[in-house]
Order: sequence, then C-alpha cells, then structure tokens
Amino acid sequence: MFHSSVVKAFLGLSIVTACGACGSDGRLAEPGSATGMNVLIVTIDTLRADRLGCYGHTGARTPTIDALAESGLLFEQATTVSPITLPSHASIFTGLAVPNHGVRHNGTFKLSPDATTLAERFSASGYDTAAFVSAFVLDRRYGLNQGFTDYDDRFETTIDAGPGSYPERPADAVTARVTDWLRARADARRESPFFVWVHYFDPHGPYEPPAPFAESFSEAPYDGEIAFVDNELARLIDKLRDLALLDDTLILITSDHGEGLGDHDEATHADLIYDSTMRVPWILSNPRLFPNGNVVRDRLAATIDIVPTLAALTGLEPAGPVDGIDITAAPVAGRAVYLETLAPLLDYGWAPLYGLRRIDDKFIQAPQPEYYDLASDRAELDNLYEDRKDAGGLRAELSARLADWPDAFEVAGIQKELTRDELERLTSLGYVTGQAALPPGTRDPKAMMPVWHRINEAGRLSVRGEHAGAIAAIREVLQLDPTNGKAWSVAMQIYDRAGQSTEAETCARRALQLRPTSGVWVNLARFALNRGDLATFEGALAEAQRLDPQNGGIHIGHGHADALQGRYDEARKEFETALRIDPVRSGPAAREQLRRLDALLESRADDTKQ
Ligand SMILES: [Zn+2]
Repeated sequence: MFHSSVVKAFLGLSIVTACGACGSDGRLAEPGSATGMNVLIVTIDTLRADRLGCYGHTGARTPTIDALAESGLLFEQATTVSPITLPSHASIFTGLAVPNHGVRHNGTFKLSPDATTLAERFSASGYDTAAFVSAFVLDRRYGLNQGFTDYDDRFETTIDAGPGSYPERPADAVTARVTDWLRARADARRESPFFVWVHYFDPHGPYEPPAPFAESFSEAPYDGEIAFVDNELARLIDKLRDLALLDDTLILITSDHGEGLGDHDEATHADLIYDSTMRVPWILSNPRLFPNGNVVRDRLAATIDIVPTLAALTGLEPAGPVDGIDITAAPVAGRAVYLETLAPLLDYGWAPLYGLRRIDDKFIQAPQPEYYDLASDRAELDNLYEDRKDAGGLRAELSARLADWPDAFEVAGIQKELTRDELERLTSLGYVTGQAALPPGTRDPKAMMPVWHRINEAGRLSVRGEHAGAIAAIREVLQLDPTNGKAWSVAMQIYDRAGQSTEAETCARRALQLRPTSGVWVNLARFALNRGDLATFEGALAEAQRLDPQNGGIHIGHGHADALQGRYDEARKEFETALRIDPVRSGPAAREQLRRLDALLESRADDTKQ
C-alpha cells in the first residue's frame, strides 16, 4: 500500500488534483479523526518544497516523501513564518507568530518556559514524548525541550570543522536513535500513543552528502543531501511498519525554511523572505485517514497551523490562543500570514524585513517595499509596488499587526541613530569615510547581498591562510558598510588568524559596540590577557557571562589566567567546567587546554627530578 507505483509514473502530477477528500464545505478531515493515533513530526532543515519529487522537481530522488504524499494531504502553497531555524521551530511547536513567542533569532533568544508547546499538550494527554534534533541551534538550552520526556540533542558524533560548519548529526545517526527508541518502547509494551519529533539537518550547507549520494548527485549536492535524508526516512518508516505502527501514526513532513540557492542573489537563508526560503513542504500523511493522495490548492498553509491542525485531528483539548488555524477545516478567504526576519538587523545592522503572504500575493516591508502577484510571478521577479502602493490592502494590514508588537530595535537593543561621537570614532579609525556610516536599519538587505558574499569570501580566504587577501576583502566591506557588526567580528577573526592582535582587538571593540555577543567578549578578554591587562580581561568575561552564562569560552578564559599565574588546580577545574557545560562549542578547545596543562605539569615534574 505504501509503495504504490502511481507516484513513480510522474512524481507530483499523478496525485489526484481535485479535492477528492473534501466535503462540500471544503473540510479535508474530520476533527477527532486521529484520536489516539501516534503523531510523528519530521522537520527537514533547509528543505525547499520545490526540490521534492511530489512538489514537481524532476531531478529529485525522494521516493519516501513522495509515497507519504500519496497517502496524505500535500499543501501546494505552504509558508514558514521565519527563515531562521530556532524562531521557525518555535512557531511550529507553539502555533504562534514569531513576535508572540519572542524567539527572534538563533543563539541569543530562548523560548520562554511560559510558552505552551505541542509536546506539553500531548504529554498532558498521556502521550509518550520524544524529540531527536540534529543541530546545536536546537540544543535544549534554547527551550524547545519543553514537554519532551526524552530530548535527544547529542551532537558529539560530529566535529566542528571551523567557520561555516555547524555542530550537527547526520541523518543515519538520527534515524538509528529514533528506531532504538521505538524498539525499546515496543519491548516495554507501552500502550500509550507517542508524539515524536525528528529533525534532520543534512540539507543545510555545506552540501556534502555521503556515498553513494555524493557520486550520483555530484552536479547537485543539495539534492543529494535531500536524497540521503529521504533514504534515512525510509528506514524510519520501515521500522514503524515492522512494529505494526504505521497505520496508526499520523505523519507530518515539513521544513523550517528553504534555501536561496542563488535566487535573488541569496546563497543560503535567514536574510531575505522570498519564497525560495519561505515556501516549505507541508504534508500530512496516514494511509487510513487519507487513502488517496490529495494535492490541496485552495488555501495557503503555514507552519503555525501545525499545532491547531494536529490538536483538532487528535482531539486535544483547546489550549490558549494560537495564530495558526486548523488547515483541514474550511479555507479562510483572504488569509494573510505574517513573515519576518530580524537577522539582517541583528547580524549586519541592515533593515529588518516584515511581510504578509496570501495564497496569491505577498507584500514585503523594506526600505524599498515590494509587492508580488504570486499567481503570475512565483519567482517574485516583478516588483509591482510602484503601481500598487496599497499592496492589495496588505500594507495597511501589516502596519496594524506590527503596531501590536515591540519595535525590532527595542528587541535588539540597537540604537536607531549613531551619535556624532560614534560617527567620528568610526571615521577616526581610518577604515571609513563619513558618508558610508548610515544609521543601523537603513540599508535594504536585498541590495546588500554582494556585501554578504564578500564577507564570506574574506572568511574563506582567512581560513585558507590567505591573510593579505582576507584583510583586503574585509577592509573593503568595512569601508562600504561600517555599521555592520558581523563584518567587524569577522575582521577580528581575520586579523587574529593573521597574528595581528592589536588590529584584532580594535575590530573586536567595534563589533561589540554594534553587535555585542558573548563570543566576541571572550575574544576581547583573550587579547587583553595576552597584553597583561587584567582589568579589561575580567570585565570582558563578566560581559560574556551576562550575555550567555553557558558559553564555555568564559571558563577557558579564566582557566588561562589561572594557568598563567601558576594556579594549576583552579585552571583544570575551569577547563573541565567548560567541557561539561558547553561540550559542543567549547569541547575541542577545552580538551586541548587540558592536554597542554598535563604536558606542562609533566615537564615540570621531570625538571624537578633532574
Ligand atoms: Zn534551519
């Protein structure tokens, strides 16, 4: 039943296109029809809908997901609400628009314990709950573990290979952990249903699928990563079938966001809100509920709909208000979904982006506003804003919604204006001409993609040891865009790698004025310690601690100072603390420091003997 040949005939197009399962009112499934069923949510990070076979990509090899769509509802137009992993997942699991749960970016925000998550609701209804996540940005410290009895966020199986790489876990390791959990539960003869979330990270850059996908997708490695995940998902589905659970499991496949892949000059995601990064797959599958595949084209689905939809189908008690809707109920005419990214502002000092998406049009509020007729222009290439300044009513509606929420600058703790003093300090560094120093939030992210590429190029040159080229590239960026906090912190790393610690420290100080992060404070502490400035060292670590108490780098810094002053036992304790509280980010550095400490003590013992 699961592996039908129909979908193979012509992926995506063979599925019933009329609304076969709909009642006359447009309802796609009855409330409570999945009561007592297991629920499996699979989020495949960085997965563009249009790279799946069932969404029409002829170059895809995604038979597992295509088959799930064949016994399910596939929402052709579905949008995420944020192009950033943590905010997007927070919306998936709360059903709330991003400002309403308050997680506006990765790394520096945490989901409040006051939020009610889907896992908490299933748990309260007697479900066994477990999550298996694959990237550090979803580590339990960021709060998505609420309601999960088991939250498997172990990333030790992979190493952090330097800038641009991420602590992650590959799909085969994730699937092994999930199938072990299912097997253990079956062995224990658990009677209660389960709610499981599986997060695969592989399609996120860098695109390096394992064999044999590396070879067969050498021309399209992003598609190769997706094929690898699909293959691992097949093993998970097989396990459900082996355990006779498949017919009783409601499966939801989606993604947190897509990937630019060069569209609109965006390589990855997070800084723009076009459909290349906002359109996601949204598939709800179960062979008993949806024996015939159904492509739904009469409504816009959103990731905030997952909570109310699953709650309605499984008969959960209504909880507090959500921003999403039960997407299997009758379509809501004129529905507009709120989109945002604050990453441009928080990372680069560029303008934040806000948008409203309806099924056939989209408005983006930016320094140069945009309005697209998606029905005739799915690629969002023809900006109609100059002729349609009301954006079909979306501009006014967006303003009304934004008025209810705190201003992004307030959230970010960023001043809108630079003082004359600050401008003068920028220019006095010799990097910058005055005219270039626009206030934060002025520049339009879509116009800044060349700068984005240049920053990344500078970083790559630096990692390769091409220091002169890296310095030239980053200085060019700083000249063009001197209020770009990310660029200053990349400049710090570049000068540091080149051994120019005075320049590195100058850049760190600029970065901290524009975009204070715990990591840059730790670096400033290190520069200060190396030149014997203990007051600055202590102050910088205190700031790092205030911003992120779980940053192991703070303990490595203290351990350094202890070791320099001969307090070897204290130093060891600090390095061990770093290893314990922050193994993913600080593990390699902490282990290296412990090795050095051991070697130092050993050589001193030898000296004493002689
Ligand atoms: Zn993501």
